Amino acid sequence: MEVNIIKTDLHCHSTMSDGVLEPEEVARRAHANGVNLWALTDHDIVDGIPVARAEAQSLGMRFIAGVEISVTWSGHTVHIVGLNVDDTHTGLVEGLRAVRSGRSERAREMGRRLDAMGVPGSYEGALRYVSNPALISRTHFARYLVDQGVCKSLQEVFSRYLGENCPAYVPMQWSSLEQAVGWIRAAGGRAVIAHPGRYNYSPMQFDVLFEQFRDLGGEGIEVITGSHTPDQYSVYADVARRYGFMASCGSDFHGPRESRIDLGQLPPLPADLTPVWHDWH
Ligand code: AMP
Ligand code: MN
Ligand code: MN
Ligand code: MN
Repeated sequence: MEVNIIKTDLHCHSTMSDGVLEPEEVARRAHANGVNLWALTDHDIVDGIPVARAEAQSLGMRFIAGVEISVTWSGHTVHIVGLNVDDTHTGLVEGLRAVRSGRSERAREMGRRLDAMGVPGSYEGALRYVSNPALISRTHFARYLVDQGVCKSLQEVFSRYLGENCPAYVPMQWSSLEQAVGWIRAAGGRAVIAHPGRYNYSPMQFDVLFEQFRDLGGEGIEVITGSHTPDQYSVYADVARRYGFMASCGSDFHGPRESRIDLGQLPPLPADLTPVWHDWH
């Protein structure tokens, strides 16, 4: 009997957003780790897809074009992953351009607030960590602050300075849930709620989020992700069953020394769930 084990990783980042490896390096690392179905899902941009796809193809690794879209829902940020999208689709490409357009001004304001907190020069400092000027993120500030010795870890930066409710946190109006799911679907893709365990919604808000997402045509939820604890694997497996969502899995890898979970280093999905990739050939 031929056994075909699919080792899937459908969530990770490159230098096109806030990852530390170039798209082709992420492809090579995924392949070296045994991944055979791989998606690159940079924040709010698909410009890394052509290079990632070409490298994956030359390695013989199945490739899925992806993106992780920033959404504001009920006053907080939610990430929606789009998988198997046409990365040249104008509606998607232009939508993403609009979503990321406020990032530079937000970064300047983060810099001003950090200045006021006695941490000077962080805007210029963060810029040195940015590889794509169109996409400056909190992660770039966090790397700078850690390397400067202001904080010991990225986690500490987010709990003291840049996380929600922290003094240097600059709230953003990202896209709406409807826009993000709409762009993904228009581009032929499948919308997936990223790392639901990271959001601080009440149980009632979560129910509304899942229902709205499903009503808008959202189809999947990340069950196994580098952002979830094993307990959360079961919680969101149950959500998938309850709402009829397909299940996704991805490391959310950002860099070799940074990410708790490396590419492809995830347990399998619970066997009764329908994988988001079940009908991709
Ligand atoms: P932004 O899109 O600029 O708001 O930045 C969000 C990114 O910050 C996420 O995609 C993560 O890569 C990173 N991030 C958020 N919270 C944390 C955390 N607690 N520890 C480490 N990285 C984080
Ligand atoms: Mn990130
Ligand atoms: Mn995310
Ligand atoms: Mn991510």
